[in-house]
Amino acid sequence: MRISTLTMVEHAERRGYAVPAVNVFDEFSMRGAVLAAERCSSPLIVQISTKTARSLGVRLVTDLFDAIAGSSPVPVALHLDHCPDRRVIDEVVEAGWSSLLFDASDRELEAAVSETSEVVRQAHAAGVAVESEIENIVGVEDGVGSDEAVHAYSVSQLADIAARTGTDLLAPQLGTAHGLYTAAPVLLFGRAAEVRRASGRPVVLHGGTGLSDDEFRRFVRAGVSKINISTQCKRAYLQAGLVHLRQAEVDDHWDPPAYLDAVTEAVAASIAQLPPVFGSAGQAMDLLARAETLAHA
Ligand SMILES: [Zn+2]
Repeated sequence: MRISTLTMVEHAERRGYAVPAVNVFDEFSMRGAVLAAERCSSPLIVQISTKTARSLGVRLVTDLFDAIAGSSPVPVALHLDHCPDRRVIDEVVEAGWSSLLFDASDRELEAAVSETSEVVRQAHAAGVAVESEIENIVGVEDGVGSDEAVHAYSVSQLADIAARTGTDLLAPQLGTAHGLYTAAPVLLFGRAAEVRRASGRPVVLHGGTGLSDDEFRRFVRAGVSKINISTQCKRAYLQAGLVHLRQAEVDDHWDPPAYLDAVTEAVAASIAQLPPVFGSAGQAMDLLARAETLAHA
């Protein structure tokens, strides 16, 4: 069942958990992520990278989401991840997605503020929520991003800018990076709590793949209410596909539906590990029961 991103994160903040926000890239990864949420009775945010939105097309992604999430008993939202491209934003606002991340981290401060304000006005007019990123989270994901920390601001600057732009959610730099970690990151749990307090807005953690259960729990306790997972889903999908294809070669037996079942199940099994750690397991029915009374339903 489709529920707005803001209703989800508002519920997550009240109940002290974080919503898993999983990047999917086709029908089968989307089905796998939703299956995981159903097995855990967890709310879920389905995320689409700008690259995937461009390659599949916004129309097809919207239709897939409506078919898969619409028939699911758990609450699911559709979010556009890291998008610096205003044309793609125009399309998803038009298509009525739940929320989008306007990534202005490649812009200088004044341009980032003025463009984010424009996107917020445009999105809100269509009932779409906005996540704002003006500090760049290190690492390249689907062709967006940089390995260098280019723009960094103080907590009070971030809070001030959030108020000026009217964004709904914030994605600050919290010491994490996109992709897989080659060295242990320095995680900024205290900064997550400070940004939450100073801005009065839900805080999103990027670069979740590879953190330990304890590190996730510390971020949730610090007030993070949306946690993005991308690399874990891609690896589960492709590694299961590889195992299946190796066996198909040995057996000389080529069965696409069995392959698609294998990758879907691998995504479901991998993503189902997250809700018990994020505290979102078992929250779906309470969220659906309260959705009408939450402000953003
Ligand atoms: Zn990200």
